Amino acid sequence: MTIQDIGHYINGQTTFAGTSRTQEVFNPATGDVTGQVALADVDEVNKAVAAASAAFPAWSAMPPIRRARLMNRFLNLLHERKDDLARAITSEHGKVFTDARGEVERGIDIVEFACGIPQLLKGDYTEQVSRGIDNWTTRQPLGVVAGVTPFNFPVMVPMWMFPVAIAAGNTFVLKPSPTDPTPSLLYAELMKEAGFPDGVFNVVQGDKVAVDALLEHPDVKAISFVGSTPIANYIYETGAHHGKRVQALGGAKNHMMVMPDADLEKAADALMGAAFGSAGERCMAISVATLVGDVADKIVPMLVERLKTLKVKDGREMDAEMGPIVTAAARDRIAGYIQSGVDQGADLVVDGRTHELAQNDPGFWLGGTLFDHVTPDMTIYKEEIFGPVLSCVRVPDFAAGMDLINSHEYGNGVSLFTRDGNIAREFGRHIQVGMVGINVPIPVPMAWHGFGGWKKSLFGDTHAYGEEGVRFYTKQKSIMQRWPESISKGAEFDMPVAQ
Ligand code: NAD
Repeated sequence: MTIQDIGHYINGQTTFAGTSRTQEVFNPATGDVTGQVALADVDEVNKAVAAASAAFPAWSAMPPIRRARLMNRFLNLLHERKDDLARAITSEHGKVFTDARGEVERGIDIVEFACGIPQLLKGDYTEQVSRGIDNWTTRQPLGVVAGVTPFNFPVMVPMWMFPVAIAAGNTFVLKPSPTDPTPSLLYAELMKEAGFPDGVFNVVQGDKVAVDALLEHPDVKAISFVGSTPIANYIYETGAHHGKRVQALGGAKNHMMVMPDADLEKAADALMGAAFGSAGERCMAISVATLVGDVADKIVPMLVERLKTLKVKDGREMDAEMGPIVTAAARDRIAGYIQSGVDQGADLVVDGRTHELAQNDPGFWLGGTLFDHVTPDMTIYKEEIFGPVLSCVRVPDFAAGMDLINSHEYGNGVSLFTRDGNIAREFGRHIQVGMVGINVPIPVPMAWHGFGGWKKSLFGDTHAYGEEGVRFYTKQKSIMQRWPESISKGAEFDMPVAQ
């Protein structure tokens, strides 16, 4: 098998030569090494930032509608090449192809949103704030901005950032996860093919060395981060220390509360997809079922039945429902959490460690795991496991369920299954979580609404993408103007157009 060299994309060129440090890239379904990714040193980061700085004056001066037209070409190319991107995700992340295609679609949504940038950048205007004086506000790009992204959505999460930032007139340096780096080079190629000038979009592969170089670089004006909470916290503090604007999205522990009046068949299906889809490696995965009253006695057996038929297999097979775990280290970490649940007294109803693939295959496999009688003091309740493990917590009533969820330190996503509109309304109003689903298990907001959690799931003020994203990547300027005399330019006969 050939091992691919996966390099950087700087100033319109892909480079690997001269790389001093690399990291192996695996196909998690087989355990094979398929590539080696370059890990940038400070010099390479400096080159990428220099390319982005050099591109900024001309790019930011281009009228927004012309930037939007290039984004529109990129959008069309993404539609043509979405299966290639999805295949690249599956081969390095492991998630099943159909799910990877959904990820690409959700990334495409943001690109489509960014095509509306002329409308989004429109400012406010007040005539005659005083005699002969008008006042207006405009939003201008920041300069070079950077994105640092996690392994679990190698296409969608970077697309939460760079399409909006670039359409708004910034230039961009992306530092993707080294675990599944190939998709970043595929969409870099498409950006070039779409006609974006060199230096507008750059990719540096790497680890902490590259991230620290971006955090400390004086020409990087803002950092968007998505990943685990300890690193999000570090990025927020360090970026702020270096005078940057920072949005840092962190980890999660998402609950789904099921009321006794809910349609339990539908709730069980929703729990299966939300807990075990993408092997639980989604920041919006449901990892805790909060079961009210007698729901647990009814729904746990339904989940057990469904787990028996969950199709855990290589994501390239079209009927696969759950693929492997991303790395051997992640599989071992998750298996460790399962053991801690057993040791701390939870009831292990289905043990994913005993799945036949987990025992016999060289890939990084685990089956779906189900715990019942989990309590809030247990490690498997408190910490993010980020794997296919669903913990059922029994609560007596709605109020106890609300208290449980509101007491958790994470507040990314949450879901409630009920038929009672009043309960749903109370839940939506009072739950301390950023993204709420009512009979929707994974309520990832659409491109024009913006994505973000509360509490330890987000450090910073603005959510990703949507109008919050436009605000993050632009700074407001207020202009107040008085003209004692009007200036005549003489006659103009042609319809004026953007140049
Ligand atoms: P991670 O925090 O390990 O890595 C994220 C990024 O930070 C990567 O690019 C990585 O190279 C870099 N990084 C890692 N260690 C670093 C360090 N010490 N200093 C500087 N940079 C460092 O996260 P991951 O394992 O790739 O992704 C999974 C995590 O991401 C989960 O916690 C998940 O909940 C979270 N996530 C959150 C959201 C959200 O929107 N809130 C979305 C997706 C994933």
